[in-house]
Amino acid sequence: MATLATPKAVQRLIDEFARLPGIGPKSASRLTFFLLRGDSQQPRDLAAALVELKEQTRFCSVCYNITDAGVDPCPICADPARQTGALCIVEEPLDVLAIERTREFKGRYHVLHGVISPVEGVGPEDLKIRELVARFRTEPIKEVILATNISLEGEATAMYVQKQLATFGVRVTRLARGLPVGGDLEYADETTLARALQGRSEM
Ligand code: ZN
Repeated sequence: MATLATPKAVQRLIDEFARLPGIGPKSASRLTFFLLRGDSQQPRDLAAALVELKEQTRFCSVCYNITDAGVDPCPICADPARQTGALCIVEEPLDVLAIERTREFKGRYHVLHGVISPVEGVGPEDLKIRELVARFRTEPIKEVILATNISLEGEATAMYVQKQLATFGVRVTRLARGLPVGGDLEYADETTLARALQGRSEM
């Protein structure tokens, strides 16, 4: 563990690591000392990757999934083979990857970038819901799959989105069957997620 005698540069990296989700002070120290002991190329590569992360990516202006900086709309939105009538609404870009892995869904996505959570001060206006509603004015969407997590916040967000879409007369279904309650979609195994897609029910 770091002490008062820890050099500034070391403590700075420990503090930065510790700000990441799932990394406590102990892991932060371990990662820092691992880099300290290794060759000088690895920290350089890591630093370059961190800088490129924001500089070379952006959000797709249609679905808000992550895409390469020069590629907008994203490859999924731009793919003419994807069904324009089906829209799958997810919380995070990682959920898009999870659903893509099942190969069950041939439509397009909309990434909300979070869930409504009064506890954490996240309201509907903080999510890409206004942008979602706008898509219904220009795209021939017939079915919406609400694939937010099976959690209190995920359910509340799904309900809210459903209400916003009520006037468009689209079929709204919800992923639920077999998915673990409180678990993140991204961690569900492919078979379970594929089954949940097949067995989606009307809201
Ligand atoms: Zn897109």
